[in-house]
Amino acid sequence: MNTVELSLDDIFQLAFNCLTQAGANYANAEAVADTVMRAERDGSVSHGLFRIPGYVATLKSGKVNPNADPQPEQVTPAMVRCHGQNGHAPLALARSVEMLAQSAKTCGIAALSLTHSHHFAALWPETEALAERGLVGFACVSYTPMVAPTGGGEALFGTNPISFAWPRPGETPLVFDMATAAMAMGEVQIAARDGHQVPIGTGLGPNGELTSDPREILKGVLLPFGGHKGSAISMMVELMAGPMVGEGFSFEAAENDNGDGGPPQGGEFILAIDPKIMGGDNWAVHADKLFNKLEAMDGIRLPGQRRHKFRQDTGTRKVNGELITELRALTAIAP
Ligand code: NDP
Repeated sequence: MNTVELSLDDIFQLAFNCLTQAGANYANAEAVADTVMRAERDGSVSHGLFRIPGYVATLKSGKVNPNADPQPEQVTPAMVRCHGQNGHAPLALARSVEMLAQSAKTCGIAALSLTHSHHFAALWPETEALAERGLVGFACVSYTPMVAPTGGGEALFGTNPISFAWPRPGETPLVFDMATAAMAMGEVQIAARDGHQVPIGTGLGPNGELTSDPREILKGVLLPFGGHKGSAISMMVELMAGPMVGEGFSFEAAENDNGDGGPPQGGEFILAIDPKIMGGDNWAVHADKLFNKLEAMDGIRLPGQRRHKFRQDTGTRKVNGELITELRALTAIAP
């Protein structure tokens, strides 16, 4: 694969330039470019520069508001609501996390309902931000139908990721962030682009057959992870990021989408819990007992550790060369 080496600043600037060229104002472009840069920094390449053409498509089609100015509001002491004004999610999230954290520190537990937003990123930025403030975080979003409920062959659920973060005073938080599909769609697209096979069980081809060819799965449907168990969790995400926050299901998002290839309108549910108020003063020492046992076992690593190791390297990142050519063309001023 032809690659280009870019510094983290170059990655941010390239993303920012593409977004402003497509019409995003400074605040929105900065928030998305920061999310994209942090994904590349952490080795989450399926949510890095790879996503920029999709973000740009939503700006060019007029689906996403380039000047969204989301203002979180305190609905009750333990509930924050943010109307995303049909912008990309990163600005709304950056503005809401602190209010959510303060609510959880006051009440012990608090929730955020984000609506009218377009989420095209990983979820760890929001849960990790809560853990960095000493809180346990949980987040989920739905998308458009791509995953067949277990037993079926027709897409109904989104890839519906969930993320959980646990604070570890003096250390990097424990974070997991995963699609409830057997594989995230971005990973399948990257495997198809790079000519890699995917494990059997990732999805079905257009005729309902199990296949390891990601190009066939892109014509067919993804499967949930873990059979009926993953299917149930994906259904939960549909409910929590849909009616629970006052937003639509994945299938409703698709019905209302203009098909520009970028993220549809949707909602996000985020929960923040203060473990000291909930569990008492010993919570961190006690939790470390589990982490220490896990880390002492052969072949085990904690979720999030791969990303956090990437993060320590502040040097350049290798990015797909064709993608860079495509993005540089997007930054060019139209004649
Ligand atoms: P992965 O399967 O790559 O990883 C899932 C989690 O498991 C990560 O936290 C990862 O940590 C951890 N993990 C992986 N391997 C191990 C291991 N051997 N031991 C312990 N932990 C491990 O993620 P997915 O492909 O399912 O999801 C990728 C991203 O896609 C997520 O960030 C998700 O939020 C995003 N997404 C976003 C959507 C949206 O609509 N906005 C839709 C669907 C997905 P680590 O990172 O350290 O490897």
